This record gives sequence, structure tokens and C-alpha cells, in this order.
Amino acid sequence: MQQKFSGMPRRLYSASPSRLLAWLDCPRRYRMQYLDRPRPQARSPRAHTSVGVATHNVLRDFWDLAPVERTPSSVESLVRQSWIDVGFRDPEQSASWRARTTGRVTEYLRGVDRGRQPLGVERTVSLHTATMAVTGRLDRLDDRDGELVVVDYKTGRARPTDDDARTSLPMALYAVAAAGMFRRPCTRVELHHLPTGEVLAHEHTPATLQRKVAEAESIAADLRRADTDYADKGVESPMFAPAVSPICAWCEFRAHCPEGQVIGPEKSDWAGLEPDVPAGPGRRE
Ligand code: SF4
Repeated sequence: MQQKFSGMPRRLYSASPSRLLAWLDCPRRYRMQYLDRPRPQARSPRAHTSVGVATHNVLRDFWDLAPVERTPSSVESLVRQSWIDVGFRDPEQSASWRARTTGRVTEYLRGVDRGRQPLGVERTVSLHTATMAVTGRLDRLDDRDGELVVVDYKTGRARPTDDDARTSLPMALYAVAAAGMFRRPCTRVELHHLPTGEVLAHEHTPATLQRKVAEAESIAADLRRADTDYADKGVESPMFAPAVSPICAWCEFRAHCPEGQVIGPEKSDWAGLEPDVPAGPGRRE
């Protein structure tokens, strides 16, 4: 075990925003995802995750094209190249969603200034405070006349609200990180919902951003304690109780969690695409 000397600075707790949120969602799932080794086998991705990841990849690669090549036919070929054929009910459902994704991305990009290169696309940003180091990858960072704007794509069926933009911890942390890295103001965060084309925005103030950083520091402090307890006691640690909720029907570690299996039935691979089923969890939706 590493010895500590008095006066020695404490190491920063390093985490991604996803790690912080995973702890809030369910400590047992957090443990399986980030601490247990060997890591329990997670179930294969569901179709809505495949759609979300492919869409994000297209919206990343689109900006690598020369401006004259940023056309609907290029989008169609990017979707074809990026398509992840996993989790669909059958080949017909996969083909239908590929066509639908092409349409949505094309429509979305029609409303975007395609000649203005974003300042960052899938850009890694970091934020260091006195106690933690947060590193994550934002979807897009725009420079709008000197002001930086954090953009997050949403592909899930559920329409986000302005409140989702206001309360998003990752986007607030990315805004603070981007402002520090580029030495420019960054207070606006936007959710771009591909299925509806809507933009849900929030304008932070220095005080609201500071509150978000404090919230992240508080979660990081809990995680530092939990990780230390795990290092000491392993799976016997009492800090990783299962948080049983409707999310269990979607959980990728459900097969390893008897407590969560009381919530049922488990959602099918393609349930997240169906109109009458509430969308499941997933950071890449
Ligand atoms: S099934 Fe539910 S309680 Fe179990 S790990 Fe997953 S989210 Fe947590």
C-alpha cells in the first residue's frame, strides 16, 4: 500500500463525467463497470445504442470532409460506413433505421452552417480543481463570434427539455474546461435532438457553473471513499448497494445482479426503438 507523508499533497481524483454519473445511477453497476476485475461481461449493445453511436460517428466524420463535399450523398455514404448492425430485430429493421438515420442527420445538417468549422469535434477536454481532475470528450464545441458553445447530440426518442440542458453535469463541466483551455468565455450549453431537430439551450452564469463543479467535487469525494473501501474489502464492501429502479430492465450488467432481476421483464434488444416503450438509459443516445 502506498505510504502517505504529512504535508504530501493529496492526489487528484481522476474521473470522466460518465464515471461520476454511473455512481449516481447505481453504485453496484458502477462497481461492476469500473472496479471489478475481471470485469463482468456486459450484455451486447441494444439497437438504440447502435443508432446513437453511428449517428455520433457520422456527425464527427462529416467535419473532416472538405466544405464542398458536405452534401446529402456524403452523409448517406458516411452512415453506410458507420452503421453498426447490432441489436436490431432483423435485417429489415436495421435497414429501415439506417435510412431513417440518414434522413435525420441530413435534415439536421441542413440547419447547420456547414461552412463554419467547429472549434472542436469529439474533443477531449480536462478540468482540474483542488481535489479532482475530470476528463471527457464533448460532441462539438462551436466558436460563435468569440463565445464558445458546448453542443451535445441526442438521438433517443424522448425529447429533452431546457431543464435537461440546465441540469446536465457533463455539459457544465465541459463548458468550464473549454473556457479554461481556450481562455474564452463558455457559458452556453445546447442539446441538439436529432429526431425532432430541436435545440434545447441553457445559458449558465459563473455561479451556476461553480455550483456544478462543486457538485462534481462532492461526487468525486464519495467515489474516492468508495474506491478506497473497495481496494480494502473488495466485493464485501457495503458501499456498492444495488439501486433497484426501472433502469434495471435496461442494465447491461443485469445478468450479474440478482437484486435488479426483480424488475422485469428485461427489455429486448430493440425496445429502445419502439414508440410505446420509454427510452432506456444510455449516455450515447
Ligand atoms: S440491475 Fe439494477 S441494481 Fe443491478 S446493477 Fe443494474 S442498475 Fe444496478
